[in-house]
Amino acid sequence: TRFIYCFTAELHLIERIRETMFTHIENFNSVFLCLEQWEEVSGYDENMNTIRTYQVCNVFDSNQNNWVRTKYIRRRGAQRIHVEMKFSVRDCSSIPNVPGSCKETFNLYYYESDSDTANRNSPPWMENPWIKVDTIAADESFSQVDLGGRVMKINTEVRSFGPVSKNGFYLAFQDYGGCMSLIAVRVFYRKCPRIITNGALFQETLSGAESTSLVAARGVCIPNAEEVDVPIKLYCNGDGEWMVPIGRCMCKAGNEAVENGTVCRACPSGFFKSTQGDQLCLQCPINSRTTSEGAINCVCRNGYYRTDSDPLQMPCTTVPSAPQAVISSVNETSVMLEWMSPRDSGGREDVVYNIICKSCGGGRGGCTRCGDNVQFVPRQLGLTESRVYISDLLAHTQYTFEVQAVNGVSDQSPYSPQYASVNITTNQAAPSTVSIMHQVSRSVDSITLSWSQPDQPNGVILDYELQYYEKDLSEHNASTIRSQTNTVVIRGLKPGSIYVFQVRARTVAGFGRYSGKLYFQTMTEEEYNTSIQEKLPLIIGSAAAGLVFLIALVVIIIVCNRRRGFDRHDSEYTDKLQHYTMTPGMKIYIDPFTYEDPNEAVREFAKEIDISCVKIEQVIGAGEFGEVCSGNLKLPGKREMFVAIKTLKSGYTEKQRRDFLSEASIMGQFDHPNVIHLEGVVTKSSPVMIITEFMENGSLDTFLRQNDGQFTVIQLVGMLRGIASGMKYLADMNYVHRDLAARNILVNSNLVCKVSDFGLSRFLEDDTSDPTYTSALGGKIPIRWTAPEAIQYRKFTSASDVWSYGIVMWEVMSYGERPYWDMTNQDVINAIEQDYRLPPPMDCPSALHQLMLDCWQKDRNNRPKFSQIVNNLDKMIRNPNTLKAMTPLSSGVHLPLLDRSIPDFSTFSSVDEWLDAIKMGQYKDNFANSDFSTFDVVSQMTMEDILRVGVTLAGHQKKILNSIQMMRAQMNQIQSVEV
Ligand code: AMP
Repeated sequence: TRFIYCFTAELHLIERIRETMFTHIENFNSVFLCLEQWEEVSGYDENMNTIRTYQVCNVFDSNQNNWVRTKYIRRRGAQRIHVEMKFSVRDCSSIPNVPGSCKETFNLYYYESDSDTANRNSPPWMENPWIKVDTIAADESFSQVDLGGRVMKINTEVRSFGPVSKNGFYLAFQDYGGCMSLIAVRVFYRKCPRIITNGALFQETLSGAESTSLVAARGVCIPNAEEVDVPIKLYCNGDGEWMVPIGRCMCKAGNEAVENGTVCRACPSGFFKSTQGDQLCLQCPINSRTTSEGAINCVCRNGYYRTDSDPLQMPCTTVPSAPQAVISSVNETSVMLEWMSPRDSGGREDVVYNIICKSCGGGRGGCTRCGDNVQFVPRQLGLTESRVYISDLLAHTQYTFEVQAVNGVSDQSPYSPQYASVNITTNQAAPSTVSIMHQVSRSVDSITLSWSQPDQPNGVILDYELQYYEKDLSEHNASTIRSQTNTVVIRGLKPGSIYVFQVRARTVAGFGRYSGKLYFQTMTEEEYNTSIQEKLPLIIGSAAAGLVFLIALVVIIIVCNRRRGFDRHDSEYTDKLQHYTMTPGMKIYIDPFTYEDPNEAVREFAKEIDISCVKIEQVIGAGEFGEVCSGNLKLPGKREMFVAIKTLKSGYTEKQRRDFLSEASIMGQFDHPNVIHLEGVVTKSSPVMIITEFMENGSLDTFLRQNDGQFTVIQLVGMLRGIASGMKYLADMNYVHRDLAARNILVNSNLVCKVSDFGLSRFLEDDTSDPTYTSALGGKIPIRWTAPEAIQYRKFTSASDVWSYGIVMWEVMSYGERPYWDMTNQDVINAIEQDYRLPPPMDCPSALHQLMLDCWQKDRNNRPKFSQIVNNLDKMIRNPNTLKAMTPLSSGVHLPLLDRSIPDFSTFSSVDEWLDAIKMGQYKDNFANSDFSTFDVVSQMTMEDILRVGVTLAGHQKKILNSIQMMRAQMNQIQSVEV
């Protein structure tokens, strides 16, 4: 009942009368204090049990005032007191001859007091000091008189009063002329019991002073539970009942509610619960287990993993097996690959495929990764379908394609993805488009154009077809000209008119596609006249300025005189030639393709060597046009020397011969200790050869990879200094390399680095002054090494070479690491656009990384010149102390491009977890035993520390050091964000 916890202060007398009526009877020693008229009488209740009552029945006397009072009752914290009275009242009308003063009611009073001080006279028997609670009337009265065993009708009434605040109180009953018996009085208060509900414990709470009062109680979450949203609260009402709770507590992660929600119990082993809440612990998913009770997740078994986005109730998964049954269908220089999904997806649905393309059997022995020009549709990495279309391969070439299967957890596995491979050989194909065309000269009625051969001739080029038409007319009016060389004079044009030109190459496989449209304009009569009048005096005037210029002039005159088939009206000095002659005192590089017959450029710049002076010893590599050999050169009157001999394979076309030899005519113009030196060419006998100084250590990228970690910083800076010096020389010559990369640097036995590979660099900067007519064509671009403006709008300058030089610095300092690792070209372009830059390689002095960042300034005018780079490096070499600082990050505006293969340390809660994530989990104990157990100390570790904790494998040392470096970078970033 709602009185469960109430106390009962029963009157002593009543106790004797009805002992069983109430529970928890408090035993009072004192009895009612009676006034004369109340008397103690025995009687019977309605069940004929004997009861004792207090009675009064002075109805025939008027002015009655009869009081009976209880003993002192302690309040016990209650604010509102309830009084239940059992009594019977005689019906006045049943009493014969009763006067009108007869009453059928009595009054209930209380009096508060801090101690039991009442006696017969005090407090006085009157309202105030007594406080009246109510006048009590009987619901039932009795009229029959049954003397000597009277039956009474018992009424029960309950009244309450409050607030009470003193230590205790008395109750009193006042009769003022009735005939009644007081049978029992029970005094109690109400309280809400101690309960556990909604995950919280509420202590016993007493009801408030008014029957409508609500008393708030704060709950305390049971052990292993925590509050959700709002603090948990319950209200206790005036009836001693708890109202609806506000807020709730729920079992914490790792604990579940049992025993009707009154206990939160830790999940047993093999079970987990990841979040706070009502749900039960779940059994660990397949391939996972718990390490203790109360687990909030299950850890994957060895060899099984989970991605960040995998739900914890999902089974742990593993890497997929290799794709199956790869089928290739080759079509000319493209191939369609199709395969079947792996037998085992590793338990995941996110299997995708990556294609690794290697071209093999190019004479270099092994296979090399395909260049950036190979096209993959829909893409090379992350293929969701099991097919890919690969195009722009070289004709007649062997390729190996590896189809890797990877899924969401592949990058967590220490092993490389499983793959299936397929070998193919491409077929005959039409040539690719001509990508570069420029104007050699023009007159009022003719234009001389020259172009480079297609990037992929895919066979012997038989001839070119040039299509042209006046810009204002339709393409249908186009004329065509065939040419067996890559130069043609178009005659019979209108003066001062713009023409549209397109060219395509033809092999036995047919025509390639036309190049993009280029616009060139013939001279107006006025232009022609002024060019003749103005330029000659200017040239002669400048010629007087110096001997060097005179030589240049002679060269021009020779060149011009050698041009055959020129129109009589041709401007004698083209724009390009003017450009070269306008800088007296400076030796300027001349593009061999400005010669109508590039063979003349070869004769001009390369010395012819008699084959009898050359002794080939062995094949050392493969070039674009044929084998590269080492051998000896003995020129008459000179010491025999060791040389490299590039050969042109037999069956070449005239065009291939020209392209092959163009490298010699470029190289032959250079003379610098850091630029590969041309000894001469053999063109009068077969095979045609280019003979250069021999570089014992081959190309720089391979050399560094083979000697990973073997050089001092000063040695590396020395190499970089050499490259910068060679580039300064080339830039001073107005030569733009366009493909500066470690693979194009050669290293000799003294570690001297020399810039080489002038094969691609034949593209001169566009010098058409009117931007409307700027060539929109372009060649292949090595994206990772190339400055953004050169990628975007082919603005190749010495400043874009400086950008590439920065990348070479990074390659050198990282011992031949691939710039931007496995990021796709598009990712690289996007990252650079967003101001991300490569981070410092391991052990890279901050001064060098700063120099790299300077080379990678977005605005090319802000990049250093090669002369400044050389000076800067010289200073570092003279003051090696400047190379000691290893701060991994510059304070510059650039954000470092973080190595994505190394996870962010801040996502791990312990060094152990971090070691696991970088797949170096085997060193957990080593780290812990040497007290490297917090990120703070780990981030300070040096190579010596790493050795000292017992990491002896070089690869592991490197991996850990790299990751620590990344950690420091990440810490710095976090700090700078906080600042
Ligand atoms: P290239 O066609 O210039 O890329 O040369 C192909 C390969 O031949 C290079 O990667 C070098 O390994 C090697 N090579 C080219 N020129 C030389 C040289 N002067 N000395 C030694 N090796 C060379």
